[in-house]
Amino acid sequence: MQIGVEARDVVTFRGDGVIVNLFEGVQAPTGATGALDDALRGLIRSAIRAGEFTGKAGESLLLHTGGRIPATRVLVVGLGKAERFDLDGVRTVMGGALRTLRRSGCRRVASVIHGTGAGGLDLREAAQAATEGALLGLYTFDRYKAEKEEKRVDRLTLLVRERPQIAPARAGVLIGQTVAEAVTFARDLVNEPSNTLTPQELANRAQAVCKRTRGLSCEILNRRQITRLGMGALLGVAQGSGRDPVLIILRYRGGRGRVPAVGLVGKGITFDSGGISIKPSEGMEQMKGDMAGGAAVVGAMTAIARLRPRVNVAAVVPACENLPDARALKPGDVLRAMNGKTIEVINTDAEGRLILADALCYARQLGCERLVDVATLTGACVVALGRIRTGAFGNDRSWIDQVLAAGVGAGEKIWQMPLDEEYGEQIKSDVAVVKNTGGRPGGAITAAKFLEHFVEKTPWVHLDIAGTADTDREKGYT
Ligand code: ZN
Ligand code: ZN
Repeated sequence: MQIGVEARDVVTFRGDGVIVNLFEGVQAPTGATGALDDALRGLIRSAIRAGEFTGKAGESLLLHTGGRIPATRVLVVGLGKAERFDLDGVRTVMGGALRTLRRSGCRRVASVIHGTGAGGLDLREAAQAATEGALLGLYTFDRYKAEKEEKRVDRLTLLVRERPQIAPARAGVLIGQTVAEAVTFARDLVNEPSNTLTPQELANRAQAVCKRTRGLSCEILNRRQITRLGMGALLGVAQGSGRDPVLIILRYRGGRGRVPAVGLVGKGITFDSGGISIKPSEGMEQMKGDMAGGAAVVGAMTAIARLRPRVNVAAVVPACENLPDARALKPGDVLRAMNGKTIEVINTDAEGRLILADALCYARQLGCERLVDVATLTGACVVALGRIRTGAFGNDRSWIDQVLAAGVGAGEKIWQMPLDEEYGEQIKSDVAVVKNTGGRPGGAITAAKFLEHFVEKTPWVHLDIAGTADTDREKGYT
């Protein structure tokens, strides 16, 4: 879908649909919505009077204009209470609105940039959010379907009031497109089945996207190189699979020197059966998405390379399959991670933390000054926070605060969880330095506590996205 910006009145837009809005409780629309309603001889007002439309968040009203304006349809979307409306509201509203217009067969649509009038949102930021919401809301994955979605929106025009507003809105659109393309790349990887998206294929796709993206370099380490590095934990998880593990390393240089200021580490289990501690078969197909953390960090690197912040960033993705086999890892086995620490394996389904242990050691060896790891790590995190918020754990107050603030800016709901010393007791092993599970109580926390053994003093935040990596229904821009 192409996205453009024009300074024009909604009433004069020629196309299949225009999107305008209303805050909750407004009886007589003003601004763009008011002007449109006048041209429609009060159709919107009469829907409000009839109680059909109140402007609540999530509400929408699709009207056919019957030739009263050049556009054939008007979609009025509810923004909810004005004081609560924010940039994530812009994304959510645009995602739903674009799907509604696509369903009704619109190809060329226009929209006001929600929240920039009475809402007081910054124009550039709101244009970015509108772009992200529109592109992500229209996302489909129909690669393996016989019947493809035929209806498509070809062009979205964001409308501003005056010409000087075009430049900032366009700048926002450009950033929004970059971010949405990165997210789409990650979504495609998560949706891809594991017989296609093998560890090597994940590496191939990372390599391909690096070739297409200026400023990104990519290095793939094979089994031999991983062995030479002493990554016993990653090798241990991979040993039940017929497919070799890989370590994917992406680098972006935007700052001085060679040292990465930030290291992103993402879990890349392309299928998690649980291994010998096998999972129940019900829902196991969803375990093709156990590389979502890896997909997220590779996607993030593509956006970083295009947005060019003045900082060096590296990403490390350990990728392999977790399968039961005659050679597979067994409960009671002891592994040695890259930093020499020994790990007693209690449950082979707690494999994510094992591969992350070696990847975090590797990121530290690269010299990364701060770390963020992203992983679909624990069912316990889903129990604690549901499917709304990602759990955050960390060892450095100011770095945690920066990551949480970045989440607020991006519309990612994150909640900080504790990491007290005492939780470490649960993962003390009788035969090794640490064991890979600490039982049911505080399972998301003891998983983070385990990872802490491998980051040592480096400022680090662990994001457990087990509940937020996927969704089974369309909502807003997800
Ligand atoms: Zn597992
Ligand atoms: Zn897993």
